[in-house]
Amino acid sequence: MSRIVCKFGGTSLADALQFKKVRAIVEADQRRTIVVPSAPGKRMASDAKLTDLLYLCQQSASVGSDFTPVFARVSERFLEIEQALGLKAGMADHLDQLHKTIIRGVSKDHIASRGEYLNGLLMAAYLGAEFIDPQECILLNANGGVHPDTYRMLGERLANTNKRYVIPGFYGRDANGHIKTFSRGGSDISGAIVARAAQAELYENWTDVSGLLMADPRVVANAKPMEEATYAEIRELSYMGATVLHDEAISPVREVGIPIAIKNTNAPDHPGTRIVNKLSPEIDKSTEIAGIAGKKNFVMINIEKNLMNKEVGFAFRLFGVLERHGVSFEHCPSAIDSMSVIVEASQLEGKTEVVLEEIRNTLNPDRLELEPQIALIAVVGEGMAKTIGIAAKVFVALREAQVNVRLINQGASELNIIVGVMPEDYETALRALYGVFVND
Ligand code: ADP
Ligand code: ASP
Ligand code: MG
Repeated sequence: MSRIVCKFGGTSLADALQFKKVRAIVEADQRRTIVVPSAPGKRMASDAKLTDLLYLCQQSASVGSDFTPVFARVSERFLEIEQALGLKAGMADHLDQLHKTIIRGVSKDHIASRGEYLNGLLMAAYLGAEFIDPQECILLNANGGVHPDTYRMLGERLANTNKRYVIPGFYGRDANGHIKTFSRGGSDISGAIVARAAQAELYENWTDVSGLLMADPRVVANAKPMEEATYAEIRELSYMGATVLHDEAISPVREVGIPIAIKNTNAPDHPGTRIVNKLSPEIDKSTEIAGIAGKKNFVMINIEKNLMNKEVGFAFRLFGVLERHGVSFEHCPSAIDSMSVIVEASQLEGKTEVVLEEIRNTLNPDRLELEPQIALIAVVGEGMAKTIGIAAKVFVALREAQVNVRLINQGASELNIIVGVMPEDYETALRALYGVFVND
């Protein structure tokens, strides 16, 4: 029988009521045999995500502070779900174990993974499914990538196509057998790995919005949902801030052509967004752009030097400095005698001065300047390559909104146009771009 892998995010599993919605969704289609749960998320805006509480426990314990009050909040969440659903999943014992483990001292990754682990045990009990611990069969490389043996090991564990399985998201194990988590939001990656290992026909990613919207709903009210988008478009958008799907969750399924459906646990009948390799002809014809996304936390290093263009190896030496300090960059716009690099602010944390000093000593620039805050916005769409006037539209919209553009970048793939603006102009710029491409 063909199978669908369903990953449910934190808000989809925040309490017993959400668990009930999840079971109804799983039971509504017999192909939905593999469930990948996240840890419980926020029940309301003011609530805490369970993963954040676990990180807090670890932080307190590591400096010898009392983590009991935070741990009590963790326990309460799991016990409440177990009781409300009338389950006997042994949560009290598991939590007791975890408490002891934290006192003994374990890694941050180990503690953080327990949100998904315990929620997975609850979900398996609730669905009457077999529980698979990803520590046994998701193998991660030192850089956090998936070890190719994973697909075989996991595929073997999931061999029975008539059985229902629950496999928690967010973690696997490293080469030494220790628990290793993905970066935040990483249950999306687990879901993609599981879908590939199970040779699923579809990877459903269930969340709290009806698919990917053409802009961040926290900035643009009533943003339009995308009916269909390509893997490449979604990778760009998610990397640039459309956090619905982790940007690393695309390649495991893209490489084998498994489509992704982004669906809303609270509105399961809404079609959501379908992510595929190539747009269907009617959608391709009618869409100019796929969407707009952005992030605020970038830094721009500007370097000017007379006759830079004649200095062979200038960029090579600049990138050498960044490499020596383990700094990766996003974009590198340049002119004849100037060059800028855009770096995510966290990349330079604690080393800005050292990096600038080394750039100064290595390249001897006429001017070296750091712009400490810049926001990037990406207008993304496969259709851009064949449509005239997209860039003009971007600049007219920003000029009319009186937003000063600090940088422009268009990748060779012509999949996106990126503009850099001051963080205080970010929301205005995003809304202006949305207005010109979607509302007009
Ligand atoms: P989950 O807990 O299900 O993994 P996330 O919080 O990771 O969910 O992702 C869903 C959230 O992403 C939405 O609630 C929304 O606030 C945010 N978001 C940001 N950009 C977009 C976008 N373009 N379309 C839809 N949601 C977006
Ligand atoms: N629970 C983890 C987090 O909060 C992973 C996830 O939800 O995808 O980041
Ligand atoms: Mg998420």
